[in-house]
Amino acid sequence: TLAAPSSADLFTLHRTDTPVPDATREAALASPKFGTVFTEHMARISYIDGEGWHDRRVEKYGPLQLDPATAVLHYAQEIFEGLKAYKHADGSVWTFRPQANAARFARSAQRLALPQLSEADFLGSITALVRTDRAWVPSGEETSLYLRPFMYASESFLGVRPSLEAEYLVIASPVGPYFAGGLTPVSIWVDTEFHRAGAGGTGAAKCGGNYAASLLPQQRAYEKGCEQVCFLDATTNTLLEELGGMNIVVVGADGSVSTPPVSGSILEGVTRGSILQLLTDAGHEVSERPIPLAELRAGIEDGSVAEVFACGTAAVVTPIGRLASDDFDLTVGDGGTGPVTGRIRAELTDIQYGRATDRHGWLHRL
Ligand code: PMP
Repeated sequence: TLAAPSSADLFTLHRTDTPVPDATREAALASPKFGTVFTEHMARISYIDGEGWHDRRVEKYGPLQLDPATAVLHYAQEIFEGLKAYKHADGSVWTFRPQANAARFARSAQRLALPQLSEADFLGSITALVRTDRAWVPSGEETSLYLRPFMYASESFLGVRPSLEAEYLVIASPVGPYFAGGLTPVSIWVDTEFHRAGAGGTGAAKCGGNYAASLLPQQRAYEKGCEQVCFLDATTNTLLEELGGMNIVVVGADGSVSTPPVSGSILEGVTRGSILQLLTDAGHEVSERPIPLAELRAGIEDGSVAEVFACGTAAVVTPIGRLASDDFDLTVGDGGTGPVTGRIRAELTDIQYGRATDRHGWLHRL
């Protein structure tokens, strides 16, 4: 579907006065390391209680000046999103289900008592930024322009109540694969001590605080030789939830597919939902159900679990070759990339990069 022409046109363009030379940009685009290089502009909208959202603009990328009493620095009233813009062979640039990110952003805003941003402003800001920085969308295999919309409480006030002012920005970063190893299977450490979120908490919102809480367990996972941490539910400490920045999917030897349900304490991944649809289309029996760690362990051991993978915008679909914790260390299947994992990754990326028919109407042209 084509982008509505109007919402991006509401953004005033203030071009950078120090454009990056073409050669410098080309060098940066050649092998972008995740999240280290940013484009020349950012989109921005400001909010004041009573006036609403105003000053839609695209301006030079650069530091923000914050009063030391800015609410977000004290109470972490902040939310964000993550999605990608993909360049197709004909040079056109597309995002994948951005309406789903807009809807999740609105749900996150609600949970964090931040103002609602309309879908039109969410899509308009992304479109305005990517049109301005189109030259920064990389074209190498498995590369994309990662888009990071975010909103923070910008009022200078130390009282604990929702901020009366907010800033919304979108920044963009050309990226390659999230994991250095590409499609090499990753190892997962199952943390049985720390939880990422609890019932009634903010687990379903994409807010910075959730990630702050995941850093120590993530660091411990690294120390154990694992790339990612898997969290269990905070109520019973027995059920799989998700990884620090990805959802988890289990594939049975019989081809059945299961993933933890959207319980309120995990993030409802756009990749997760899309993959479940594609697997259903392909005839897999798909269930969203609580998965006890004990069941997963037994299944890996007796072979009834054939594959486990992680999925998310950044990691796409990444096979999990090893699952470990203090009292077990298991190899999933033969430790390599299973056929369902490989197939679903190819199917999804073929749609995103315009190599396959977009039969669900998921692509959105910028
Ligand atoms: N869970 C968490 C905690 C995440 O940070 C992400 C990445 N946004 C996901 C799951 C996957 O979500 P998505 O597929 O929308 O990127």
